[in-house]
Amino acid sequence: MHAAIASRVGEVYLWLDQQLWPSRCNRCGRCCDLERFGHRLFVCTVEWIYHLYHNPQPVDIQGHGRCPYNHSGLCTIYDHRFAGCRIFQCDKDMDTQAMIYETTLAKFKQLCIAYNIPYRYVDLFDALNGVLSDIGP
Ligand code: SF4
Ligand code: SF4
Repeated sequence: MHAAIASRVGEVYLWLDQQLWPSRCNRCGRCCDLERFGHRLFVCTVEWIYHLYHNPQPVDIQGHGRCPYNHSGLCTIYDHRFAGCRIFQCDKDMDTQAMIYETTLAKFKQLCIAYNIPYRYVDLFDALNGVLSDIGP
């Protein structure tokens, strides 16, 4: 079942990338320093299943600062990064991003209903600390 969910989440990411094209993000990694940038990154249950399906290896969590997937400024899971990472673009209109984000979460909620998975929406660091361990693959 997790492969099917991962595939459906991948379709949502594809849709998302199409909404946000063209992107002027130069992947500088500045916003991946979440604490310094004033960001929190949230993930929901189906995204977490997708994440663990594609990135099963454990990651070293160094507090609530920089995203642990960012090494030397580069995202090590770029092709499989989270919805929040895809949507945020520092040079784009925030209202449009908020609208796209709401639509994305609605799609994820629909997937939760379709696969009978509880919808939960948690901070990335809490997820990495095991708060969603009951729903992972
Ligand atoms: S959204 Fe902006 S700050 Fe974040 S990686 Fe892209 S260019 Fe850098
Ligand atoms: S997953 Fe990648 S793009 Fe998203 S915050 Fe972490 S390093 Fe940045």
